[in-house]
Amino acid sequence: MPVSEMPHVVVVGAGFGGVSASSELAKEGFRVTLIDRHPYNTCQPLLYQVATGGLNAGDVTYSLRYFAARHQGVRFRRAAVVGIDHENKQVIGDDGVRVGYDYLVLATGITTNHFGIPGAAEFTMSMYTRAEALRVRDTIFGSMEIIAGRSDPNSGGFTVVVAGGGATGVEMAGQLAELKQEALPKTYPELDPAQVHVVLVEMAPYLLAPFDDSLRKYALAELVKRGVDVRLNTAISEVHADRVDFKGGESIPVDLVIWAAGVSGNPALREWGIPIGRGGRIEVNSDLRVLGEENIFAIGDISLTVDSPLPQLAQPAIQTGRFAAKQIARLHRGVPTEKFEYHNKGTMATIGRGDAVLQTPFGLKLKGVLAWLGWIGLHIVYILGGRNRLQTLLSLTSRYLLPRRSNAIVGDVMETPKLRAGAVDRR
Ligand SMILES: Cc1cc2nc3c(=O)[nH]c(=O)nc-3n(C[C@H](O)[C@H](O)[C@H](O)COP(=O)(O)OP(=O)(O)OC[C@H]3O[C@@H](n4cnc5c(N)ncnc54)[C@H](O)[C@@H]3O)c2cc1C
Repeated sequence: MPVSEMPHVVVVGAGFGGVSASSELAKEGFRVTLIDRHPYNTCQPLLYQVATGGLNAGDVTYSLRYFAARHQGVRFRRAAVVGIDHENKQVIGDDGVRVGYDYLVLATGITTNHFGIPGAAEFTMSMYTRAEALRVRDTIFGSMEIIAGRSDPNSGGFTVVVAGGGATGVEMAGQLAELKQEALPKTYPELDPAQVHVVLVEMAPYLLAPFDDSLRKYALAELVKRGVDVRLNTAISEVHADRVDFKGGESIPVDLVIWAAGVSGNPALREWGIPIGRGGRIEVNSDLRVLGEENIFAIGDISLTVDSPLPQLAQPAIQTGRFAAKQIARLHRGVPTEKFEYHNKGTMATIGRGDAVLQTPFGLKLKGVLAWLGWIGLHIVYILGGRNRLQTLLSLTSRYLLPRRSNAIVGDVMETPKLRAGAVDRR
């Protein structure tokens, strides 16, 4: 059948899931409209490298127009989808434009969940988008500039709290510790690195919940060795512009709080006329079709297989994306759909240079340099685009292997409320 007569599939969200679904649909000959609120795909697992000055934002983002140009039958449209008109089978963009579909794939990913903790939404930063990672970077380096410019740079200190001891929190805290130990002393010799405090806060009695206990303990010991103040069994009760309160009464002054404590589907999805379940995720059947829907699929982080929820990671997003495309092809051929089976290839988290933990479902557990090399290799594969992969490899090589490896990528200066409050010497 010529492409022009093939059904039209709209894919909303161009993360790992949406991009893999679109590539597969293109191979199957469908007409595809890929819609994203950003004109680029983001490799989220490398955002904290951007936030700590190790990578450029452009290294971990990839033009979706270029992606579309390279896949026959795929076109890209930039818009934030705000709803679905089920009756007319159209998605509605924030620009008012409606795009009709024969099949719809929802791949909108997840966002931060602040669990209603007072002040958390206002005074913390998250790391889901390129803009958020750059904001974290500019706050860190901007603060260092302000502190280094004081008559006594070591009078006030700089404290970053990372909320949440899952993989994102551990990776972020480890990266900040590395920044403090390696890049800052070389870049800001006037600053005593001991003035920079990295605090990792976790409610549970352990870090890295999905990992084996031996790897959790290893990650904890390594972070402590790298100077991170890890506070387990600790819950945040309120966040202020310049202070964090813990349940139990203690408070600490802060310059920056990075929220890695919880995720949820975008609450706006509740208005889209689709079933929303635990964690704000879209409920799907075992073939990834949205409950009660014939032609709508949900994949990746936002999809919730009711019987066996999948982890919110890159691999499930990639695999569900490909699978949904294949099921659309089956439906088009009039063949029954299949049950999705997840092939678990393992989980990993990096702690810092030369250090990571990795475990596979077959019992393999690795820690240290080997796990770290595996982590780097896999994350380079995850990035879209040959140039981006090469740039990332070069930047990480320069960051980790070259002798003068302190050269952080800096940006604009952002003043934190605590610094603004008067600790600055304006000679
Ligand atoms: C800091 C960080 C570190 C991580 N580290 C790892 C790791 O080491 N290993 C791992 O496996 N996973 C990691 N993850 C998780 C992994 O990135 C996600 O599981 C994966 O990105 C999910 O893919 P997705 O396609 O479902 O969603 P996403 O990649 O989040 O993509 C969703 C897309 O939808 C778009 N979108 C959202 N709403 C709309 C709308 N209304 N209209 C149009 N477009 C919309 C967004 O712009 C985005 O492009 C990490 C995540 C973060 C945030």
